[in-house]
Amino acid sequence: MITVTAIETGKAVMKKAQQAGRSGRGAIGRKIDIFRDRRWTDPLPILCFLIEHPEGRFLVDTGDTWRNSVPGYLPRWNPFFTREVSIKVAPQEEVGPRLAAMNIDPARDIAAVILTHFHHDHTGGLDHFPHNRIIAPREGYGFYSGFKGQLLGCLPQRWPIWFKPELVDMDGPPVGPFPASHPITRDGRILLVPTPGHAKGHASVVVRAGDITYFLAGDATYTQANLLADEVDGVTYNPAISLTTLRAIKAFAAQEPTVLLPAHDPDGLVRLRERRVLA
Ligand SMILES: [Zn+2]
Repeated sequence: MITVTAIETGKAVMKKAQQAGRSGRGAIGRKIDIFRDRRWTDPLPILCFLIEHPEGRFLVDTGDTWRNSVPGYLPRWNPFFTREVSIKVAPQEEVGPRLAAMNIDPARDIAAVILTHFHHDHTGGLDHFPHNRIIAPREGYGFYSGFKGQLLGCLPQRWPIWFKPELVDMDGPPVGPFPASHPITRDGRILLVPTPGHAKGHASVVVRAGDITYFLAGDATYTQANLLADEVDGVTYNPAISLTTLRAIKAFAAQEPTVLLPAHDPDGLVRLRERRVLA
């Protein structure tokens, strides 16, 4: 029996031009559009996902932290952090207290934490996992762990000083339309596939739970509606690469019944509850 549970760790509000950029716009133009945009999304959930598997419990992403709103936590020289996105997390909404409320002790009960990518709203809860195995894509870690990360939505200066993730390469066999993969469990039912575009080295987590497959997309797409409309986000470093990723996810879902679960899609919670697959 393999199950997936969503854990909400607060809310994020972003510019609409971040959620979906204008088609034909390049990576830089999309950033300019975000700064100019006056339209904001509704508050969106910041989701982590708990996978229960015979080999253990796996947590995908760690959400953000209440400290995001402490003056000085975000670097002021980069207005993207402070002006273009709004993160609201109460202390008890962090992933650690959320797990505790489910009677789950990270040190005892979580086999591994898996990061899809290194943006701050996915790494902010790392502090709750000092004793855990943490798995992350090597390409993203290499790219974002230095100063470049602070320019591009990451806060490596806030990562716990013990943070030394187990870095993985996409050196496993192709999976459907994805050219490579990386197995997480011995039975191959949890695996990573490359979904670049939103961030370098971005990975999604595939969970094959018997008659249904869960696709934990991280930020490869913000919502299922964005995916279906081929809408590439404003964050992308390369719209063509992002579009290839969106089409690969759709091709994957055409091959097996798949519930799409991005990290910020409010409708994902309903799809998960009702096991509603991407048609
Ligand atoms: Zn992201």
